[in-house]
Amino acid sequence: MKCLGCFVLTEEVYCKKCRKALFDNQKLSTILDFDKKEFLSATVALSEQMSISGVQDKISLKIENEKLMPTSTDGAYLLKPIPLMEYGEFIEDVAKNEHFTMQLASQVFKLETAKNALIAFSDGELAYMTKRFDRADGMKIKQEDFSSLAGYTEQSHGKNYKYDYAYEQIGGLIKQYLPSYKIEVLKFFKLVLFNYLVGNGDAHLKNFSVLQRSTQDYGLSPAYDLLSSFLHLPNESRTALEFFKAYETKSFEANGFYAYDDFMVLAKFLEIPEKMAEKVLRDFLSKEKTTLGLLENSFLNDEAKERYKILFLDRIKAVSYSFEKKR
Ligand SMILES: [Zn+2]
Repeated sequence: MKCLGCFVLTEEVYCKKCRKALFDNQKLSTILDFDKKEFLSATVALSEQMSISGVQDKISLKIENEKLMPTSTDGAYLLKPIPLMEYGEFIEDVAKNEHFTMQLASQVFKLETAKNALIAFSDGELAYMTKRFDRADGMKIKQEDFSSLAGYTEQSHGKNYKYDYAYEQIGGLIKQYLPSYKIEVLKFFKLVLFNYLVGNGDAHLKNFSVLQRSTQDYGLSPAYDLLSSFLHLPNESRTALEFFKAYETKSFEANGFYAYDDFMVLAKFLEIPEKMAEKVLRDFLSKEKTTLGLLENSFLNDEAKERYKILFLDRIKAVSYSFEKKR
């Protein structure tokens, strides 16, 4: 069978490498001991305990007696099942979409991501699971998302606060807060580009974070919550945030979508050397074949694969297009 973590062929549910990465080789049942219905009642009970307003779409899990069990404290994993709400197309594939997109980011685009896999409920339905990176040996590691770094809350900036910002401005915060910003800003640029190529239109302020390192300073956290939201909501806007606060390239003005020139100008705003930005773009644009290969091997259903492929090729085309060079 295919490993529910990385898609390689394996005798067991997870290959050796994934068992090490996800569970530190701890012996445990690789099927959840509960079904989605029980997950939902656990979610309600735990949200009351944690006094978070409203029911969450995910819960924490911890290993107890060789099983992964819902918990309100010391959770080492997050479990996200397919949502109950039918809010778009291919909803049955939401968990598989996030899993594939995260695997694509790490395996093909070499981005640092949260460790993740699919896992089956007791009735066989697959859910997305990710290992929390803000925990190490039961200790909490300090993490802050960019809405809090920007000082943006619902109270201060209204209901739409997570989207009321520009990627260029996130670059400004990276420069302000992270000592190794030259490295971090390049990681950020790659992530914005990756999100664009896979059609992730939900990379808002809260989906980027900084994490304290063992050296006490902060760096960008591993990437998380990556999925092709476009697969489910094909009519939403291409990016969650605009690239620039008060600027438009000629290319964008003429065509109304972000393309090569926009990424080059974004890189400039982020103070990434031109040659380096060109190299990243060239490198990412060369990953068409490997991406389609991994997609074919993913757990998405055939129709969703086809849609994902069309979208990805369309985005490759968009990013390959340069208005300036064509003039
Ligand atoms: Zn694996």
